[in-house]
Amino acid sequence: MLTRAALEQLDRDDPLAPFRGRFALPPGVVYLDGNSLGPLPRATPGRIAEVVAREWGEGLIRSWNDAGWIDLATRVGDGIAQLVGAAPGSVAVADSTSVNLFKLLGAALTLRPGRRVIVSERDNFPTDLYVAQGLAAFLGGRHAIRLAEPGGVMDAVGDDTAVVMLSHVNYRTGAMHDMAAVTRAAQERGALVLWDLAHSAGAVPVDLSAADADFAVGCGYKFLNGGPGAPAFLYVAPHLHAGLRLPITGWLGHAAPFAFEVEYRPAPGLAQAVVGTPPILSLVPLEVGVGLALEAPLSDVRAKSLRQVALLAALIEQAAPGAFRRVTPDVPARHGSQLCLSHPDAYAVMQALIDQGVIGDFRAPDILRFGITPLTLSYAELWDAAAALGVIMAEGAWRDPRFAVRRAVT
Ligand SMILES: *Cc1c(COP(=O)(O)O)cnc(C)c1O
Repeated sequence: MLTRAALEQLDRDDPLAPFRGRFALPPGVVYLDGNSLGPLPRATPGRIAEVVAREWGEGLIRSWNDAGWIDLATRVGDGIAQLVGAAPGSVAVADSTSVNLFKLLGAALTLRPGRRVIVSERDNFPTDLYVAQGLAAFLGGRHAIRLAEPGGVMDAVGDDTAVVMLSHVNYRTGAMHDMAAVTRAAQERGALVLWDLAHSAGAVPVDLSAADADFAVGCGYKFLNGGPGAPAFLYVAPHLHAGLRLPITGWLGHAAPFAFEVEYRPAPGLAQAVVGTPPILSLVPLEVGVGLALEAPLSDVRAKSLRQVALLAALIEQAAPGAFRRVTPDVPARHGSQLCLSHPDAYAVMQALIDQGVIGDFRAPDILRFGITPLTLSYAELWDAAAALGVIMAEGAWRDPRFAVRRAVT
């Protein structure tokens, strides 16, 4: 039997506990959705205000040089590189994850001209699949997208496969691939591998270099706490930089943007991946978020995350025995930083829970998703979340018709 007192003791012993005070979380809320939109770092509003008033307001265009705006994306990219085991200069920050997928899938197909298949998983995040479909249609329909069922990726990879595009941690189930093993197996068949780190960067240890990954993309607004719609990142293995050809060739990716030449010449290295003018007002909060993530040892983050996933599962089972089916794999090495449970009325149950100040989210068709963000989440809050859920299930509060009304964002 778990008690709240035991969880409070874990909080007192938690080396990451001081990070909570670095974020502005509203009182009375248990936030279990930092994997979808990370919370606001306390340093962010002041930093944005300073950039707007001083760097933009007073510095005007001089700030591109004087305030270092022109190098900001590179600086943030090098910070993210440290979080995902990438060499400096091999991560660029630009655009959205969706657009970066397009850029890298295009580059991958160019590197494997004789191969016409993109392999992914049927339960991959839809934008990844939509981008692949759009690119294939744009290229004239000569490319095919082959979707594997969960667990069957390698059966789908053959000598026709140009690139294997996978989410490292599945957004809906939390299941996590063995990045090094899958990368090796796919490369042995001649394919390139592109990892989507949306639910990995800042949440689980990732070593792109050790895994010998070819490409990766990821989000800035999830575990990196960069704010809604923060710029995304992309990774290209250093040995692929020289031959890299991206399908979007903009002036800031040119070797000499201010020479204003007529012919496109790619900038060396990954600099060509920054296509157009970087969104400074969005990069500033991302820099704050990445800086915070770099302060926290990822091994501590992972250890607390695994413990919190296991505890939340046990606490919910204790508060509402048999009410839910666990979807997230029960093996620590096989899951990311979330707990997903299924229930036939998952949407209404989650709305009832949010009404009590416990914020998780719903993923169709039947999943309650609880994101675990060790920098902000205390152990005692797990108790409070499970207790609230227990009351909702015991009283049937979720049956209130107002909880069945579907909103645009679930
Ligand atoms: C959140 C998420 C995205 C989001 O893409 P955007 O272009 O930022 O909207 C992409 N892929 C995965 C796997 C995600 O979880």
